[in-house]
Amino acid sequence: MGICDIQRPTLVINEGQARANIQRMADKARYAGVHFRPHFKTHQSAEVGQWFRDCGVTSITVSSCSMANYFADHGWSDITIAFPLNVREMDDIHDLASRIDLGVLIDNPDAASALAASIATSIQVWIKVDTGYGRSGILCDNTQQITQLAKQLEQVDHLKFKGLLTHNGHAYHMQGHEAIRKIYAESTQRLHSVRAVLLNEGFDTIELSTGDTPCCSVVDNFLDVDEIRPGNFVFYDLMQTVIGSCSDDQIAAVVACPVVGMYPEREEIIIYGGAVHLSKDNIEMDGNRVFGCLAEMKGTSISSIRRDAPVVSLSQEHGTVHIPKDIMKSLHIGDLVHVVPVHSCLAVSCLRF
Ligand code: PLP
Repeated sequence: MGICDIQRPTLVINEGQARANIQRMADKARYAGVHFRPHFKTHQSAEVGQWFRDCGVTSITVSSCSMANYFADHGWSDITIAFPLNVREMDDIHDLASRIDLGVLIDNPDAASALAASIATSIQVWIKVDTGYGRSGILCDNTQQITQLAKQLEQVDHLKFKGLLTHNGHAYHMQGHEAIRKIYAESTQRLHSVRAVLLNEGFDTIELSTGDTPCCSVVDNFLDVDEIRPGNFVFYDLMQTVIGSCSDDQIAAVVACPVVGMYPEREEIIIYGGAVHLSKDNIEMDGNRVFGCLAEMKGTSISSIRRDAPVVSLSQEHGTVHIPKDIMKSLHIGDLVHVVPVHSCLAVSCLRF
């Protein structure tokens, strides 16, 4: 579809930039000697998946059974579902484990029991460890609980205890390379300490899996982890520029939105592009809540992000954009403007059908 054919909010991907982002991360992982298992929830697309294959990627991360099934149907045979095991989906998990190398994560004995009872085939099991984010996982200080869970897994032949997995979501609250590196170093040190306890208990190989986009973009030395799982880096977004994980020109996804209302007296336009297209994720810029910013484009590439033209509010389908006078003069009803989303994973998920 050409830009001229766009009628409603539409995702515009810069394939060249996305491929460059993938290549850079794949090279970085290869150079550091860590296994690269990118998270595919960001794009959820077999076509984009092929761009990863072209860079030598063979194993992936997803966040649901349905995503795992979709990518398994498209030839991916080594998939980790990096979401707490949902024991109501054991039939699906069993089917997946029968046809691919499947990894799941757990952080409690009931989930381990459900796996032992419902899965008759070999499945890789990671213990989710909370190294500071505070979302899911056993607290890294609670080595007794982690050891007990590992021992529970060890008792069941087909449950293959793979290692310790964490997600540094708290890196998203940081700004600047030093702060991100500090989060990564602390989190990894905590994983190492837990691993040392398990090795002492007689476990032999325990892999460590980590990797969010801010840390993987900024850190060069992965400090002896085995695998990284960033996802967002394929497209990046406005939030990542604020954190300091990417430059403006590394952003590879924008949303083209028709202009449907113009209000020069209040320096605002209304776009067809609301919460159902961009999501309600927002960031603070100069003390204001912002849901995206307009970009000047050259084809599908961003030539500059107009931080003086922020999306200031969203309802279901409406987006309200503050427009400086110089842009207002050149705009007309029916024009397309390009919004850099705050969070590309959510915008892509909203717009991919
Ligand atoms: N691993 C897990 C468990 C996650 O929840 C996520 C994202 O939420 C990722 C990896 C990928 O991180 P990012 O979106 O920062 O690339």
